[in-house]
Amino acid sequence: MKPRPGASGVPAAPAERERAVRGLPKAELHRHIEGCVPTPTLIRLARKHGLELPTFDPAELDKVVKLKAPMACLDDVLRMFSIAQSVFVSLEAVEEIVCGMLDDARLQENIVLLEARYSPDFMLRGKDLGWQEVLELISRTLRRYEARHGLCGGIILIASRSYGLASAERTVEFAVRNKGLVAGFDFADSESAYPAALYRGLAARLAAAGIPLTVHSGEEGHYSMVADAIAELKPRRIGHGVRIADDPTGRLIGLVRAQGITIEANPWSNYLTHAVDSIERHPLPRYIKEGLRVSIGADDPAILDTDLNKEYLLATERMGLSLEDLRYANRCAVEGSFLPDEKKKDALRAVLAI
Ligand SMILES: [Zn+2]
Repeated sequence: MKPRPGASGVPAAPAERERAVRGLPKAELHRHIEGCVPTPTLIRLARKHGLELPTFDPAELDKVVKLKAPMACLDDVLRMFSIAQSVFVSLEAVEEIVCGMLDDARLQENIVLLEARYSPDFMLRGKDLGWQEVLELISRTLRRYEARHGLCGGIILIASRSYGLASAERTVEFAVRNKGLVAGFDFADSESAYPAALYRGLAARLAAAGIPLTVHSGEEGHYSMVADAIAELKPRRIGHGVRIADDPTGRLIGLVRAQGITIEANPWSNYLTHAVDSIERHPLPRYIKEGLRVSIGADDPAILDTDLNKEYLLATERMGLSLEDLRYANRCAVEGSFLPDEKKKDALRAVLAI
């Protein structure tokens, strides 16, 4: 007998709910490739390439590469990323990681549209690999996967703000030279130390080249930084955007709504990094109620021990979202995706069919 859904449209029984959430066709806009290296892959690649790891015992390694509770120390988290980064050592390794990420997205999470992002300067720093060959490999891997399995994919290049302006300039020029291979661009990390005004010229350069922009903004610091990012950089999307809800006048929410900006929400990530005190206090439900365009992402699934199934379960069990809300978030994700309309058609049909 088919269980009756609760008021939210989501089945009340946990096993049924999990199955229902898993089966939902999903669109994901905010996922870092460097955060998609599962522990067994880390171990396999480290062995193959003779790399050091803190331990080769999977259970012990899990403890140092996964953030399972709100972070106590930023250095521990940076170390997790640096361990994951250390295995991007060869084209074969990059291909294996990207294929694993796509398999997980399709088979475990039923993702039909995925924009995957990475920072060339972070991923490839200290490696004997060229930016161009890696971008071409990732692009080729996505196209091949798309042709075989129908998952619609795209690449967002990231400038890591904490690497300084010269790195951001180099990454923007790299994106412009390769605009046929990239779907969009992102400025990420350390927003407080690197204000939006610094990147005004680079954002204009991307806009002139026709490369759409998303910005990690409002994950930390003051909500006025999101207003600055919107004014200075004119992004079509904002990664995280948690602080937007802090504006007591509500004007910032009005601005985001008026500009049709899509918020790439990452609830579990925000909880682990203390951007919100608890999942229950995450502003995503308010954003939906206020009519903002929102999507739900997993950010760094392997490091944050999450995926879209977990994010959707949290959203329905602890944030009060309904099945209709999830459908809305997926529609916003596809509509806000930087991929061309003809590529998004099937994904839109899939996420609306639920
Ligand atoms: Zn992110």
